[in-house]
Amino acid sequence: MAQLTLDEVTKTFQDDDGEIVAVDKVSVDIEDGEFLCVVGPSGCGKSTTLRMIAGLEDITSGEIRLDGQIINDQPPARRNVAMVFQSYALYPHMTVRENMAFGLEESTDMPDDEINERVEQACKDMGIFELIDRKPGELSGGQQQRVALGRAIVRDPEVFLMDEPLANLDAKLKAEMRTELQELQQDLDVTTVYVTHDQTEAMTMSDRIAILNDGVLQQCATPLECYHEPNNLFVAGFIGEPSMNFFPMTLDGSTLRGDWFEYELSDETVAAVEGTSDITLGIRPEDIEFVQGDGPNVFDSTVHVVEPRGNENTAHLQFDESMDDQFIATVGGMKQLKAGQRVKVRIPENAVHLFDTASGEAIR
Ligand code: ATP
Repeated sequence: MAQLTLDEVTKTFQDDDGEIVAVDKVSVDIEDGEFLCVVGPSGCGKSTTLRMIAGLEDITSGEIRLDGQIINDQPPARRNVAMVFQSYALYPHMTVRENMAFGLEESTDMPDDEINERVEQACKDMGIFELIDRKPGELSGGQQQRVALGRAIVRDPEVFLMDEPLANLDAKLKAEMRTELQELQQDLDVTTVYVTHDQTEAMTMSDRIAILNDGVLQQCATPLECYHEPNNLFVAGFIGEPSMNFFPMTLDGSTLRGDWFEYELSDETVAAVEGTSDITLGIRPEDIEFVQGDGPNVFDSTVHVVEPRGNENTAHLQFDESMDDQFIATVGGMKQLKAGQRVKVRIPENAVHLFDTASGEAIR
């Protein structure tokens, strides 16, 4: 059992300009065996959060509990967690075998033959057994990353902490390692906290995603919930590639009036948004429909640029060519669109997200 709880965890740093709140009252319960990805833009507090769980950084306030036990003041070596870094952090003068054995030799009194057995088994699991007597300089980036993972596995930790472990790999290897890591985590069933700024990694690998911005937890939910039911404008814009389109509007009766179009809401939606006048309408690029005739919530627009992406195209469109009002729609690869072409797009109400523009909170 390894249930990890962050309870109002806060970290502040002092610098010349004063206090930086790197992590601001973050609370999350990570279930036994769960794979949680922590995502967010650069500087949002991802690594600091991970480092506090590892014990590499003091906690300013709040509690971190492992299976109900407060571990705030436990030194890193006493926490049964293993961390894997982006830089691999392998010792260059040691062989794979020595790198993997080192932590166990230093921090436990495990007999040598047991250490050896664990190291060899981990090398077999990671598919690097034939490299066991090489030094890191004689390995590829992907092989080095496997050694770093193997070194975490041999410790048989209760929690894996991973800080952008695939960031240094090329796209193809990254995709392979993503699958391998997922399989490994499922086989070992170890509670895992995985930091990345790559939302594809987060969407494809995790049970749940915790999205941070400016040290504040914005949402912690399954990838699909974050995608389909974002809590706020930040999550809506951060999750999804290409990003959700946003249009600032003002509610007038049952009509949302914006700079480029007027959008008619159903009675049910009007009731749901009552009391908020400044509303941001969000629509995902794949939810915009290309239609032939006029109708409710159908608008004329012009194709500005088309980016072919193989099985689909990304079309940059404009309502008014003289304005800077580009929005994006994705279209199936078979549909031919050309720059300059006039098209009709429908924004279906069941796919529309509505946010309170002032607070950013989702209202529907
Ligand atoms: P990245 O994706 O760029 O690695 P991150 O989300 O991991 O970013 P952190 O490294 O956790 O972000 O940093 C969060 C904030 O805390 C940033 O504003 C950073 O400048 C600040 N910070 C981190 N470590 C320190 C430190 N030792 N002293 C002062 N400020 C720090």
